[in-house]
Amino acid sequence: MDIRIGHGYDLHRLEPIAPVGTGRPLRLGGVAIESDRGPVAHSDGDALLHAITDAILGSLGMPDIGQAFPDSDPRNESRDSADFFLSAVRLAREAGYAVVNIDSTVVLERPKIGPVKGAIRASLAALAGADLSRVNVKGKTHESIGPIGRGEAVEVHAVVLLGRVT
Ligand SMILES: [Zn+2]
Repeated sequence: MDIRIGHGYDLHRLEPIAPVGTGRPLRLGGVAIESDRGPVAHSDGDALLHAITDAILGSLGMPDIGQAFPDSDPRNESRDSADFFLSAVRLAREAGYAVVNIDSTVVLERPKIGPVKGAIRASLAALAGADLSRVNVKGKTHESIGPIGRGEAVEVHAVVLLGRVT
């Protein structure tokens, strides 16, 4: 059995959304989420898409998202992170692999992602070209401890398993 496992991690600082602060509207897994704070980022700051993209690239032994899509490149300014994700899925496919499953944990003090978890899973499954049952998203808080617990950042951990299809 030819399988590859990849791990991804991402963190973005959260600030009040522009024009009050420098935060962008909060997006996770390609889904817009109602929040008064959002990520400070060069792209759209979708930490969940970034972590899973890195997990896919990592499983393939390829350069990470920061190397593939540097924030010094003006083309990546405000960019929809689905572009990064889809290009990682395409690279996997070109290497002969498909997504077996994705598991992820979003650590966010507020808002709680419970009400939008289903929408996030559906969005990720569509982007990955995988069945809904193969994509999982878990939400946690940081128990009010540290910067994440104070709502100053969002953190995401992800693992991806790829299997050879050709
Ligand atoms: Zn990121």
